[in-house]
Amino acid sequence: MVLTVCHLYPDLLNLYGDRGNVQAFTQRCRWRGLPVQVKEVNLGQPVEFADYDFLFIGGGSDREQALLVTDLKNRVDALRMAVDKGLVVLAICGGYQLLGRYYRTPQGKRIPGLSLLDFYTEAGEQRLIGNVVIEAELAGKKTKIVGFENHGGKTFLNGLKPLGCVLSGHGNNGQDGWEGARYKNVFCSYLHGPLLPKNPVLTDYLITLALARKGYAAQLVALDDEIETIANQAMVERLSNKK
Ligand code: GLN
Repeated sequence: MVLTVCHLYPDLLNLYGDRGNVQAFTQRCRWRGLPVQVKEVNLGQPVEFADYDFLFIGGGSDREQALLVTDLKNRVDALRMAVDKGLVVLAICGGYQLLGRYYRTPQGKRIPGLSLLDFYTEAGEQRLIGNVVIEAELAGKKTKIVGFENHGGKTFLNGLKPLGCVLSGHGNNGQDGWEGARYKNVFCSYLHGPLLPKNPVLTDYLITLALARKGYAAQLVALDDEIETIANQAMVERLSNKK
């Protein structure tokens, strides 16, 4: 058994070091002796999403998003089929926005999305920037997730499940109190940090989902996450006290 990871557009969508999400996912597998391999797929390179267990798409500026959207749309049918078959996906910020119906930039440019998930994104005058704490439910357990956000786009879910509710920060749009989106095994978020290194519980949850989809109902061996847990709790307390 080998877990296969596809990192899509690592050269274009890597804002704030989002490639750290792939490193966290793979390292937490390796620390447990789980074989894992990563394939980077850039513009114009072929990919069979059916061959993968985890797909990561990072954040990027409006310019990069516009550059790759045609290439991404050419892959939508295969991606939709893989998502319907339970492919675990993590899409951050710019990568998140491209999975929806469209992203309208501050200049009014409408970047068409894949319409894989039912939401849209409209950029406002002000950017939504700052540290964020949300509460998500992972495997039936309420979990605080921390990170930072920096996006002009405001995302509005059309009945889609959010990743979590905002305890501190802006979230999807600074209005409805939701952050991110979830659909089947697709997880979207505006949180950079990168997200997974700051939130080991979420990383392990994604690993568990990827293993379960391959028929391995695994209870992952616990790792020493003391440092991450302390940092996570400190951020939650600091932001809660700030309110
Ligand atoms: N360009 C998009 C926006 O400004 C996404 C930014 C990002 O990926 N951090 O909303």
